[in-house]
Amino acid sequence: MIYTDTRDNSVRVDFKTAVVNGMNEKTGGLYIPVDFPKLDKSFLNKDPEPNLREIAFEMAKPYVEGEIPDDDLRRIINDAYPFPAKVSGLDPNSYVLELFHGPTCAFKDFGARFMARVMSYFNRNESTPLHILVATSGDTGSAVGSAFHNVPGLDVTILYPEGKISPLQEKQLSTFDGNVRALKVKGTFDDCQKLVKTAFTDNELRSKLRLSSANSINISRLLPQSFYYMYAALYVKNRAWQYNKIENPSIMMVVPSGNFGNLTSGLIAREMGAPITGFVAATNTNRTVPDWIATGDYKARPSVATYANAMDVGAPSNYERIAAMYSFDQVKQLFASYWLDDDGIMASIKDCYSKTGYTIDPHGAVGWKAWSDIKNGAMTELQNGTKGDWTKPGLTPNLPEWADDVTKKKNAIGVILETAHPAKFGSIVAQATGKNPSIPDRLEKVMKLEDKAIPMENDYEKFKNWLIENL
Ligand SMILES: *Cc1c(COP(=O)(O)O)cnc(C)c1O
Repeated sequence: MIYTDTRDNSVRVDFKTAVVNGMNEKTGGLYIPVDFPKLDKSFLNKDPEPNLREIAFEMAKPYVEGEIPDDDLRRIINDAYPFPAKVSGLDPNSYVLELFHGPTCAFKDFGARFMARVMSYFNRNESTPLHILVATSGDTGSAVGSAFHNVPGLDVTILYPEGKISPLQEKQLSTFDGNVRALKVKGTFDDCQKLVKTAFTDNELRSKLRLSSANSINISRLLPQSFYYMYAALYVKNRAWQYNKIENPSIMMVVPSGNFGNLTSGLIAREMGAPITGFVAATNTNRTVPDWIATGDYKARPSVATYANAMDVGAPSNYERIAAMYSFDQVKQLFASYWLDDDGIMASIKDCYSKTGYTIDPHGAVGWKAWSDIKNGAMTELQNGTKGDWTKPGLTPNLPEWADDVTKKKNAIGVILETAHPAKFGSIVAQATGKNPSIPDRLEKVMKLEDKAIPMENDYEKFKNWLIENL
């Protein structure tokens, strides 16, 4: 596959270059494949549907063609995904896609674990390790640390702001040994990011250490997230009649979003033939994208802290990929958009629990409320032009081409992406439902491990010297 750049479509690079560089430093743009090949009809129409790993292999194949042979790709995928993505029904028109069955209990495991193994593969003939530096405000660090732990040829240093992440998040990224370590920086997340960025532009340091990043703009984190969309869409399509007597379901993916990487992956799955009609772009108070879809004006802004904190992004970097892949008119046909404040998140967790018995986390709760409102009148109001003040939380004024599937044909099914396990946000969830969510063994275990974080001043020279002396 050839990859181009969101800012300059004369750029042509291979997969390895796109992965190793992360982004195009010359243009500041992001890499995207020049083409999204459709899977074979015979594969898409299999009944029962193929499992997640089979789908992963078929979908990844064209993007690594000529660079990773089939046997190696299969090994990478089997090693990356020893855990499932699970679809379950909430009510006849709503399903949930659970993406928290990986080691860190959040969907970022899907992208990070594939990226780690691909990077290791591309580094296999080097005599020195590739040093990954990541700054994190929480969830990314643990997914990356866990994904790269004990992967050959790679070495990871995670920087996080001391005292500014949750105790569980801190445990999840500071208790590794071997090739992964965490530095607790006396500063903010922005300070951590600055230390990392300065290191990448430091030629003296780069002559001593081979450095790379692992952030969410990397194409090798985006592509694998498309696998579970395909899986869920085929699963629901095959079973909707059997479970709920819905013929020819029109499937909408409801995506709680921050940086919009997850949603971009959904678009890739749709391009490759997943039976997905449209998307609901759902955010917390950081409503940059809903406002864009409503008004046509894209205005990045500073982020605001919310209960769904992994979505606290005011300048979503994957906006650039969406805008490169589709015209604004196409976006408006494909997407409904929705945003919710903290009171709404709390009420939604409670509502989902009391109506369905399902315990949803604050991120998934944004999706549950969005889809509930869409089904229960908000889309009809939008069609009738009776929708009230759109500066309040709710559906924003854009009528997707699939609106009738919800309001008239009634064959619409929403698949809500549950991006984190509710136990990761136990106190918020308990406050909403009156019950502590059950804690998976793997989270309980990590709470008992010894904290190995290394204290670090917010001082570039000290950070640099530490790297040189210790790596
Ligand atoms: C990262 C994250 C999101 C947001 O995903 P994007 O790809 O940034 O839109 C949502 N929920 C959880 C739990 C996350 O960790």
